[in-house]
Amino acid sequence: MSNTNLGAYEGIVGGQVIEEIYRLGHRLRDCLVQHVNSTLVGGGVAEILRRLVPVMAEVGLRARWDVLEGDEEFFRVTKTFHNAFHGVPVEVTPAMLETYRRVSRQNHRLIDPGADFVVLHDQQPLGLAEVRPRHRGRWLWYCHIDPADVTPPVWDFLRPWAARCDAAIYHLPAYARRLGHREYFMPPAIDPLAEKNREVSPWEVAGIMERLGIPLDLPLVVQVSRFDRLKDPLGVIRVFRLVRKEVPCRLVLVGGRATDDPEGAQVYLEVLEAASGDPDIHILELPPDSDLEINAIQRAATVVVQKSVREGFGLTVTEAMWKSRPVVATPVGGITLQVIHGETGLAASTTEEMARAVIRLLREPALREQLGQKAKEHVRRNFILPIYLKRWLELLAAEQQLASFASAVAPRDDSTCWLPGSPP
Ligand code: UDP
Repeated sequence: MSNTNLGAYEGIVGGQVIEEIYRLGHRLRDCLVQHVNSTLVGGGVAEILRRLVPVMAEVGLRARWDVLEGDEEFFRVTKTFHNAFHGVPVEVTPAMLETYRRVSRQNHRLIDPGADFVVLHDQQPLGLAEVRPRHRGRWLWYCHIDPADVTPPVWDFLRPWAARCDAAIYHLPAYARRLGHREYFMPPAIDPLAEKNREVSPWEVAGIMERLGIPLDLPLVVQVSRFDRLKDPLGVIRVFRLVRKEVPCRLVLVGGRATDDPEGAQVYLEVLEAASGDPDIHILELPPDSDLEINAIQRAATVVVQKSVREGFGLTVTEAMWKSRPVVATPVGGITLQVIHGETGLAASTTEEMARAVIRLLREPALREQLGQKAKEHVRRNFILPIYLKRWLELLAAEQQLASFASAVAPRDDSTCWLPGSPP
């Protein structure tokens, strides 16, 4: 979290939300919540945990965050699984499954025997659920990606561990896997007061852009995303080349590495090659602590694009929308909750459609302004840290109550859903 207490968010979400958070925090006082994921930096899950864990602690819970320890081979396997979750056909060998089992077993020691809740984020730590029958706490599987098209060899392997958890959390109802346990639907959020999202003056933005070597002489089209094929950075370059035929502009592609993504370096090289020799394309690979730089780049953008092929949620979209940027994005996964076509942004499915939408926005400042304002309001109502924290506390309180009854398995209809439109 930013170095501020929850009271600092009152002006954004209102006093009632903050009061409710403290009330729920009091009810869950001293509960130990252990989050486990596979990387400390890079990607949306690390971003969420960096914000969520300190605010949980601030309201009286004991919250800890542990990261799986794995070798390169393990992360190659989990990246293959990740791609399989996104419907990419992959080859899975017995040796890969053995690697996953071996590293999972080595990580059993991470689990805190005193944890009241263990939250496994995504598929990488699912193997830890082997410990579940011997553990006193309640276990939650938090699936941050759209598993609708997960391919059978991977899902057949991981499913028993996911089913062993007491409940699952998904960003969208469409993501649910019907494992016979409780399901919660809860999109994530950004921290508006963090370095990545706080207000930054135009002068500071200009200074940072100068330091990064990006001239502000032409409108900027920006995509911020890990160098990952599912973010389609090469497609963004194709979009840019169509746009530039009509309107002079620059393209800024910003990416970074996640320690659990061994494919990033290769994709980065492909992007460099596709852009080589074009002085209007700026490719930046920034270190993990570049929050202020990312903030400035998003604020300097005339149009933000997100050309993801698949997207669990897409925090980069939320970040841009919070900064009142007009966003053009493919309507996939969690982006569909955020970009409501013609209202809070523009949806575009193909390269040509995206190019047309970007050209339109570059030519129509009034439309940029209108979409940007509505985008910010949409984020303020739905995807802001205190609201997310409140939903988390409600979820934990519900699970705690269930734990006090003998039977914890509830039917699917008992699912709890917090989506845009439902009151915070
Ligand atoms: N991000 C970053 N540096 C980069 C690229 C991305 O800090 O070079 C951040 C980005 O600002 C966002 C998160 O990583 O907070 C990406 O989350 P998202 O949900 O968009 O995608 P994921 O990487 O989880 O697929």
